[in-house]
Amino acid sequence: MKRKAATPHRERLTKIVATLGPASSTPEMIRTLFDAGADVFRLNFSHGRQEDHAERLRAIRAIEAEVGRPVCVMADLQGPKLRIGTFRDGPVPIAPGQRFRLDLSPEPGDGTRVGLPHPEIFQAIAKGTDLLIDDGKVRLKVLSCGDDHADTEVLSGTRLSDRKGVNVPNAVLPLSPLTAKDRDDLRFALDIGVDWIALSFVQRPEDVAEARRLIAGRAALLSKMEKPSAIHHLDEIVELSDGVMVARGDLGVEMPPEDVPSLQKRIVREAWRAGKPVIVATQMLESMISAPTPTRAEASDVATAVYDGADAVMLSAETAAGQFPVEAVQMMDRIARRVENDPMYRTIIDAAHPDPERTTADAITGAARQVARTIQAACIVTYTTSGSTTLRAARERPEVPVLGLTSRMETARRLTLSFGVHAVHSADIHSFSEMVQKATRLAVEDGIATAGQRIVVTAGVPFGTPGNTNILRIAWVE
Ligand code: PGA
Ligand code: MN
Repeated sequence: MKRKAATPHRERLTKIVATLGPASSTPEMIRTLFDAGADVFRLNFSHGRQEDHAERLRAIRAIEAEVGRPVCVMADLQGPKLRIGTFRDGPVPIAPGQRFRLDLSPEPGDGTRVGLPHPEIFQAIAKGTDLLIDDGKVRLKVLSCGDDHADTEVLSGTRLSDRKGVNVPNAVLPLSPLTAKDRDDLRFALDIGVDWIALSFVQRPEDVAEARRLIAGRAALLSKMEKPSAIHHLDEIVELSDGVMVARGDLGVEMPPEDVPSLQKRIVREAWRAGKPVIVATQMLESMISAPTPTRAEASDVATAVYDGADAVMLSAETAAGQFPVEAVQMMDRIARRVENDPMYRTIIDAAHPDPERTTADAITGAARQVARTIQAACIVTYTTSGSTTLRAARERPEVPVLGLTSRMETARRLTLSFGVHAVHSADIHSFSEMVQKATRLAVEDGIATAGQRIVVTAGVPFGTPGNTNILRIAWVE
């Protein structure tokens, strides 16, 4: 990518992911969201046609060329979202205590039964299993079941209507997280060139391994933590993924809402420890779907994710389908900055800081953070090929930006999701003097450093050998 007048650094370390949808599909609106602070755009394959997503991606790539900054795009696959069938005469009333049957029949439902066209569910449930419908608004307990039906008692809820989602919290369903639609969407998303693939309803480490084989390095892989079984395998799933999402929407249906806050902290901490980006998602500024300002509780929720040390916070319907998409991004941006400037924030982040691993990369990036703090450097510059050194520098959660210089455009785009990283696509270097000159020039061009400041630079010598970061250099900006 040719660097034009560089878009200045955002002066915010926590990243913002904005979901695109009907409210944010025109190139002008996507550009406005970018200018307001969206760092990553999410294409939600649960909604819309493939061609709509391709069009949005084209608009993003055009903006990327215009602003001269890598922009990160995430394709979020729907996953095995289970749904009931339809009802003959529209929504039906139900009441606690009554019986209700689920079965494999394609016949439209009524007040006593409805189709549930997923044989796997009937295999996995047993007497006593709870089924949640419509984001948990309806709870059914299985009284008895066979291969093609389940007789249940309504525990809570007042009505059922067409195609509502079904969650089976405490069963591991014999389902791949990739349905036929997901496989098709995945091929499509990789063909159009997205940077991240988000995998929904991951249950087991094997699910991640399977997706990894299919993606074959063409995009980074993010696992959405929204099933109790995924929480049970948290460390293995983090290990196998390039990043994770605290997908609080479904997580809060599958598990009691009171469990979600501490799970958020645990997932963020585990991903941070592993040096993988973690997104906190769903309902962050929910009321801004239809109001220009958030509730105080929502402002506090965004702030909490930032205090937790998340790499990114996400907007879903707020930007995809809401009435105030730009205001939602601006609000998130303001909250994140305000928290990052709170002296208490630094204390909390430093206290949570994970120990370094016994590697050269961690020794160098840990030292870079210390040096930057001691001399009040303007930024830390990392030269990276695969992005791994930059990820380790982001794991340090330094108080200054990490300028990630890489000759690989796909690396630059992927890194944009990570805490504090200001990624720049730039040709490889061949000498010490080039290393210092390029780092200082780019830091100045992008508004991160000014004359008289110092920057801290890490690189690997001999130059051009990936994975060998072994030097740290302090340079003056002249
Ligand atoms: P979704 O995922 O919006 O695709 O359902 C996020 C969540 O469940 O929180
Ligand atoms: Mn979900």
